[in-house]
Amino acid sequence: MNSDERFWNASIEELKQGYVYEEAEGYYYCLICGEGFEDGEIFREEPSGRWFEARKYAGHHVKQSHGSMLDYLLELDKRQTGLTDLQKELIRGFSKKLSDQELMSLSGAGSTSTIRNHRFVLKEKAKQAKLLLAIMEMMEQGAAAPRFVPVHRTATQVDERYAITEDENAALLKQYLPKGLNGPLASFPRKEKRKIAVLRHIASFFNIGTKYSEKAVNEKLVAFWEEDYVTLRRYLIEYGFLDRSDDGRAYWVKDAADSSTGAAAPKKKDLEVQGAALKQETKAKQGKQSKQKEQIKQKAQSKTEQQEDKRKDEVKMDKAKRKQLTAEYQERERVMGVFQIKNNANGKLYIGGSTNLDALWGREQFMLNMGTHASKELQKEWKQFGSENFSFLVLETVKLDQKIRYDYKDVLDPEGRQPVDMVRQYNREVGALKEQWLEKLQPFGEKGYHAGEVSGNAE
Ligand SMILES: [Zn+2]
Repeated sequence: MNSDERFWNASIEELKQGYVYEEAEGYYYCLICGEGFEDGEIFREEPSGRWFEARKYAGHHVKQSHGSMLDYLLELDKRQTGLTDLQKELIRGFSKKLSDQELMSLSGAGSTSTIRNHRFVLKEKAKQAKLLLAIMEMMEQGAAAPRFVPVHRTATQVDERYAITEDENAALLKQYLPKGLNGPLASFPRKEKRKIAVLRHIASFFNIGTKYSEKAVNEKLVAFWEEDYVTLRRYLIEYGFLDRSDDGRAYWVKDAADSSTGAAAPKKKDLEVQGAALKQETKAKQGKQSKQKEQIKQKAQSKTEQQEDKRKDEVKMDKAKRKQLTAEYQERERVMGVFQIKNNANGKLYIGGSTNLDALWGREQFMLNMGTHASKELQKEWKQFGSENFSFLVLETVKLDQKIRYDYKDVLDPEGRQPVDMVRQYNREVGALKEQWLEKLQPFGEKGYHAGEVSGNAE
């Protein structure tokens, strides 16, 4: 079983702990890097120097080499977890037991009730996922359902090209590798689905956690396609099976943590050093241990300590930053006025007014992401074009007679409502201003998301 299969076959408990036991092989395997620990062996943990049996050690390995499983799972692509960036951020916050108030200022959400909505939506998603899991399990117990080949966790784009059953996969490999699974290729497939099947097979010849020189990569690929191994190499990178250093001197099997943003990238190097050190450790038990190996271990160890220090600093900074953000938020003056949301792909406009422009874009995005925005037309295109195609702009603000601040004592009553009469008056002003802008920009028909004054209107 390869590492991706193990990952996707793991139970919820196993995903949380980060390793699985393969009974047939008598090994505990790390779900992240695939490193195996034979049952019955004992392993020495650094830096404590204590000895652990394989199961316990596998747990230590996960924590020491990869950190928290929660972070790892959250770093997986949106397509794998189905979670938006905002949801991921909130989950991190919930898991740190931040208050709704703190989360509100961190995420830019408009109110604590928005945060409560998010919590609710996540719980509903979990319920759905649980039911779906039960349904799928029953479905698979029924008629001989086709078994799908697992999608590699670092796939750059997951879609129907990846929907391939094990039988289909085997038949394809037989067709393209008539002389056997070690190559050469009879031809290189043009169709995407076949291409992916072939690339996946070739990628399985590379070990997770090993660094390959370009020459070593080429040597492996030549066996499959002598005349154009360079194309193969490029495809393996393009489709997210392999990764390489910027100078092109080192290649490795892409790690899921790499697919997230830059921050995770340097971790990879540390992992490799640590991974190497752990392998050395196993061998060392058999007797020999050279000075060089010792040095690698020390290096890995001091790296771990540095990482730990860095992490602590980051936590401290996080706290300070949160405090500062909350304070700034409360000090900010309230801004009222008219805004536009623009679809940059087709230029269509949505015009709105608000007595609380500051947190507004966050709120609008929240509603659009949840599919609950008041404008049906805008909602439709938000889904169709994707959030990245929309931009937000404040068109004009209303002059306020007095400064209304965000410290909750004067803006909100104890139930969290705004002093009604004051806001009502401003509401009228904002409404009038919005009318002026509708007049000016004419966001109707082809030009916007507002219904009503389409062509033929008397003006
Ligand atoms: Zn591992």
